[in-house]
Amino acid sequence: MAFLEIDRLVKRFGNVDVLKGITLSVEEGGFLVLVGPSGCGKSTLLSMIAGLDSISDGEVRINGRRVNELHPSQRDIAMVFQSYALYPNMTVGENIAFGLEMRGVAKAEREAAVARVAEMLQIAHLLKRKPSQLSGGQRQRVAMGRALVRNPQVFLFDEPLSNLDAKLRVDMRTEIKRLHQRMGTTIVYVTHDQIEAMTLATQIAVLRDGVLQQFGTPAEIYNNPVNLFVADFMGSPS
Ligand code: ADP
Ligand code: MG
Repeated sequence: MAFLEIDRLVKRFGNVDVLKGITLSVEEGGFLVLVGPSGCGKSTLLSMIAGLDSISDGEVRINGRRVNELHPSQRDIAMVFQSYALYPNMTVGENIAFGLEMRGVAKAEREAAVARVAEMLQIAHLLKRKPSQLSGGQRQRVAMGRALVRNPQVFLFDEPLSNLDAKLRVDMRTEIKRLHQRMGTTIVYVTHDQIEAMTLATQIAVLRDGVLQQFGTPAEIYNNPVNLFVADFMGSPS
């Protein structure tokens, strides 16, 4: 049994099927990257995995349990978005600790967890600052810290780097890869950047208009694209 299983998943808004029966699975510790043109259903698929929105048909299972049957507090899932809102009146340290505080984690334990995550993300020297005193890249690290500190089973990213400049994107990509190797968390990551997909993924899913075009390792997708759309999209030689 795979850790994350998406089984004939359908999402319908009104009478429009936005996801038209998606089936794929990810092993524990895998890094699945979802790619496809704008509007193909990537963010919708992420919110289905997170259990943030109702499923029209089919199932999403994590560790054998259907996500829509789990109470939100039982869902051990963290999400990082493209537009990350930090609490402006809290320090970086308080921002990172906030989720733990909500869960009733004791102060000493919170501080230890914040210190561990801050060290991992190289933001330990920023813990006393306010978000307004940070660069875009530093803010993105804090947003990741907030998600990481909960030590989630599944980590979902929705185009987390698309607001950053090119140099910073490359740095953060390296950082995310390192974090994944270190923590072994299962990750589902949305991007429209093919290079990001090729460097981060253990598996890539290519979507088009709510239909899964191809699902495989980066090498499989790049070397043996199943159709012209995948070849064009991934920039494969053809
Ligand atoms: P992507 O993330 O790949 O750009 P989305 O998952 O955001 O695509 O959207 C997929 C399709 O679903 C789009 O056509 C979008 O307009 C539509 N859609 C997304 N959310 C809603 C919603 N709440 N109500 C109606 N249509 C939606
Ligand atoms: Mg999207």
